[in-house]
Amino acid sequence: MTTVHVPSSKAATHFKIGGAVIAPGEARTVEIPVAPTYAHDDLAMSVHVVHGKRAGPALFVCAAIHGDEINGIEIIRRLVKRIDIKKLRGTLLAIPIVNVYGVIAHSRYLPDGRDLNRSFPGSATGSLTGRVAHTFMQEIVAHCTHGIDLHTGGRHRSNFPQIRAELTDRAVRAMTEAFGAPLVINSAVRDGSLRQCATEMGVPVILYESCEALRFDEVHIRAGLKGIVNVMRHLGMLRKGRAKTRKKPIFSRQTQWVRAPASGIHRMLVTLGAQVADDQVIGVIADPLGIEETEVRAPRAGVIIGRSNLPLVYAGDALFHIADMHEDAVFEADSFHEELMPSDFQPPEDDPSSAPIAV
Ligand SMILES: [Zn+2]
Repeated sequence: MTTVHVPSSKAATHFKIGGAVIAPGEARTVEIPVAPTYAHDDLAMSVHVVHGKRAGPALFVCAAIHGDEINGIEIIRRLVKRIDIKKLRGTLLAIPIVNVYGVIAHSRYLPDGRDLNRSFPGSATGSLTGRVAHTFMQEIVAHCTHGIDLHTGGRHRSNFPQIRAELTDRAVRAMTEAFGAPLVINSAVRDGSLRQCATEMGVPVILYESCEALRFDEVHIRAGLKGIVNVMRHLGMLRKGRAKTRKKPIFSRQTQWVRAPASGIHRMLVTLGAQVADDQVIGVIADPLGIEETEVRAPRAGVIIGRSNLPLVYAGDALFHIADMHEDAVFEADSFHEELMPSDFQPPEDDPSSAPIAV
């Protein structure tokens, strides 16, 4: 069981990472080497360290452990821009691209075909993927007190913004509640995941899932950024914002994939985030001429937390991911969208780097 970190008001000392020494009040990018390519190019994992003058928690925020899950890269760009080092207590380690190889290749995996999020803690003498996992544990996690890991759905699959966390851990639960995502999936950690290995080391980690592989989504990016800032406030790294009553997230303990009952062309009838009733028709699969049609029905009541966006399906393909929720719960996906959707997509002339991504 991890304990909630109580931030101190002491002055920070130097922060050592990857052979670099960062002074209190300094922000710097440190390059952590990973195996070079066979074309003789050096590769490194860039870690942006923002080290406040006052001592406090050390939080890592990382993205693209799966190299095609890039929504978190933009969340981290905005986070780094947002943090004022003078107001920061403790240290932020921002790692926008963990799986450098995968991002270059638009691939979830590393060149040896392994999944990094099943390869933690790894080892210095193991496979390429195991070595990257080991480097991440030694150079990042070992220096941190808390972590947030950013993911998306797979190719042609979108996830509704959600936190996945092991809620029996008190520190993890507190971070999850502070994040403020509309939906929380209480999921046991998987073997070999960063979440599992970091938590075993006493570093509580929550995982934010949103959007689709190889895509950006403005609302999902905003929800992620807002959640990270909320967690930093909860940890005492940033001043608390104006007291607002935050909506309680919906907690779900069980989820289920709905598979295609037939092969064909799939028309989805419900959006991501829709609340569906037991046995509701949520899609229709037809042959190309529409002569034969098969209904897709919800096997239980719940919320659509994931959806396949590709209409071309084989029987057995996973189409919808449904999360159970309490019988009386009402899920307000529309108000979540309205709250975060920008009212104006015109880029501000003086500051294009804060422009929303147009839809
Ligand atoms: Zn992922």
